[in-house]
Amino acid sequence: MAKSKKPTLEFDTDWTYDPAPESTDHVTINERYKLFINGRFVAPKSRTYFDTINPATGKKLAEVAAAGEADVNAAVRAARKAADTIWSKMPARERGKYIYRIARLLQERAREFAVIETLDGGKPIRESRDIDIPLAANHFFYYAGWADKLAYAFPGKNPSPIGVVGQIIPWNFPLLMAAWKIAPALATGNTVVLKPAETTPLTALKLAELIQEADLPPGVVNIITGAGATGAALVQHPDVDKVAFTGSTSVGKMIQQSIAGTRKKYTLELGGKAANIIFEDATIDQAVEGIINGIFFNQGHVCCAGSRLFVQESVYPQVIRRLKDRMETLIVGDPMDKNTDIGAINSKEQLDTIKKYLRIGQKEGADMYQTSCSLPRKGYWCRPTLFLNASQSHRIVQEEIFGPVLAVQTFRTPEEGIAKANNTPYGLSGGVWTDKGSKIFKITSQIRAGVIWANTYNKFDPSSPFGGYKESGVGREGGLHGLAPYLNLG
Ligand code: ADP
Repeated sequence: MAKSKKPTLEFDTDWTYDPAPESTDHVTINERYKLFINGRFVAPKSRTYFDTINPATGKKLAEVAAAGEADVNAAVRAARKAADTIWSKMPARERGKYIYRIARLLQERAREFAVIETLDGGKPIRESRDIDIPLAANHFFYYAGWADKLAYAFPGKNPSPIGVVGQIIPWNFPLLMAAWKIAPALATGNTVVLKPAETTPLTALKLAELIQEADLPPGVVNIITGAGATGAALVQHPDVDKVAFTGSTSVGKMIQQSIAGTRKKYTLELGGKAANIIFEDATIDQAVEGIINGIFFNQGHVCCAGSRLFVQESVYPQVIRRLKDRMETLIVGDPMDKNTDIGAINSKEQLDTIKKYLRIGQKEGADMYQTSCSLPRKGYWCRPTLFLNASQSHRIVQEEIFGPVLAVQTFRTPEEGIAKANNTPYGLSGGVWTDKGSKIFKITSQIRAGVIWANTYNKFDPSSPFGGYKESGVGREGGLHGLAPYLNLG
């Protein structure tokens, strides 16, 4: 590993914050969680359970059911019955009321959800408290509002529900991804079988408890836990009408292959390798803050993370100096501490993947720079990392790392910046930093990506669509666009 050299700071950081851990007194986590099928928690027919751990300590939090094929069948059966007999028949405004109720309950119990999200996933409490949970509630509020307005959303199209939807989500935004999937499906009159990721099942199971409390008719939402095999069984179930998946591009391709030739509809939100482009006329401090947020937010466990940085040559030294200075102030450690900027890597497997790329990057000849912060002894951690002098052919530039690792390159003209940014199989998102509005329009219209932020990064809103081009996905989620994949539009 290359030696990290502490940069000369432009400002004094010779002080530290006192610990400010969030209390866990108000949270209960069961020792064991069953499957949520047909409105009840039921033991898995598979009779198997697996552990979910806290990645910041390595300690077991709870035991969670591993749904087998018979369990998947039971969940899909419950969803089918609810779709045919209750949910699609109910007046749309009544459906909307249930979704509003979920949103309100989530808001009321936001602190509990935030703590569990952080314990199970390793992300800083500040993020789960200020971003994940409020955005999840906002999604339910937003789509509740659409439930009885579908005819206005799609005039002349006679929208009707598709039926039973199988939804599979990843571990980087567990509750938020559940909300992204469940809220539009319910608003459009579909019923759901959702499978959270195996490393972060707890907030989805808490959501199941909340859905029970909201008195949703049994079978409208079913939540089954398990690993890839459970997901595959759900995708391949003949009575699932639509698959909505968020996860890796490799699993997304497998899903696409496995349902090819069937009548199933699908949306896929896959990987990314987003470029942030800084022009010489940008407000450099603001840009640096955005770059930091873009790649180090949630430990870089973000499909739309700004993991490639292109800096216009004339401001390169200045940008790198300030980037290093700012990185040095980032606090890596206890995710439950409100001062923490970068929490734990989600799992040992993911940390191994990130470490593999750190070795690859050095072998390929890029210059690795890591901050000098100390890391906790237990759990899974990675220092914020830069790769300078990276080149287009490097694997660290081409492949998704899903960690706090930023590959930096330079460019001279806007055309060169655009060409380099577009040289990737992905196309999920991007960012541009410039003082000139005209340049923003020029760049954003030429970058091939679904979402582009200008002079900001990683900003989400339920009303704006999200989704990628190329190998980053199929279909859009969020906003009005996010309703269409859940409807037959006659
Ligand atoms: P990540 O790299 O984000 O972990 P994965 O694509 O491996 O992404 O996982 C995302 C979700 O897909 C998880 O819920 C996982 O259990 C599920 N999954 C993994 N393999 C399969 C599969 N073959 N079919 C369906 N779902 C799968």
